[in-house]
Amino acid sequence: MTTVTAEIAFYARALKAPRIAETARALAERAREEGWEHERYLAAVLDAEVAARQTHGGDNRVRAARFPQVKTLDDFDFSFQRSVKRELVAHLAQLDFLCERKNVILLGPPGTGKTHLSIALGVAAARKGYRVAFASAQEWVTRLSEAKRYGKLSEELMRLARIPLVIVDEVGYIPFDPEAASLFFSLISSRYERSSIIVNSNKTFSAWTEIFGDPVAVSALVDRLVHHAEIITLKGESYRLKGKRKEVLDVAEG
Ligand code: ADP
Ligand code: MG
Repeated sequence: MTTVTAEIAFYARALKAPRIAETARALAERAREEGWEHERYLAAVLDAEVAARQTHGGDNRVRAARFPQVKTLDDFDFSFQRSVKRELVAHLAQLDFLCERKNVILLGPPGTGKTHLSIALGVAAARKGYRVAFASAQEWVTRLSEAKRYGKLSEELMRLARIPLVIVDEVGYIPFDPEAASLFFSLISSRYERSSIIVNSNKTFSAWTEIFGDPVAVSALVDRLVHHAEIITLKGESYRLKGKRKEVLDVAEG
């Protein structure tokens, strides 16, 4: 064993990332043969580790999905949120929609449970063996624009299309410039009839033109998104203000 190989084995153990030690050498040979840049080699080694973790155990998949918090349907109070039927959500949690490559769209004002429900469905999927990736619309766009900057947009979209469930939170909180809108469109169209997406928005579809600008592009986007989709419209008070409305109003009124 060379000194460097021994060092890599040591670091891989320290990081509890055994695949790094297993793949580092084989990938190094390939990198030398194919003249990869150093960064590409590092990315390939890390990717092997991430992919191995994602096929391992539900907990790892839940972690890999990068949910802001872990939420489940058991924590969701359907007696507070009466505009969504427990049976419908329980049915979605059976995850037939993933096999059918359908989408779920959660629309409603802040605090009505969109993020919570989407995480709960994502956690159910991860625990059942599906890879899941969660991020806000803004984060997805940032990720894609990075990929584009490195000339890797289509590769990144292909990689994402292999993830059976992508969750896009907070569509509509921040308006998109044309570049961001176009990246968002490519995310949706690359998944169309191929893999599922859950989209959360505090704006109705008719207000999406304000977020994305171009009305023609928006109607094409919404068309693809809703073609095979369960659309859930949440109504009511913010759960965050539950029981606090009076205090909040008192403060607001000073
Ligand atoms: P939204 O994404 O629609 O703005 P969230 O899902 O983030 O709302 O909900 C805000 C907070 O309230 C979260 O902590 C969430 O877990 C909680 N919450 C919302 N609705 C319910 C509910 N019906 N039962 C239990 N917790 C809820
Ligand atoms: Mg939210």
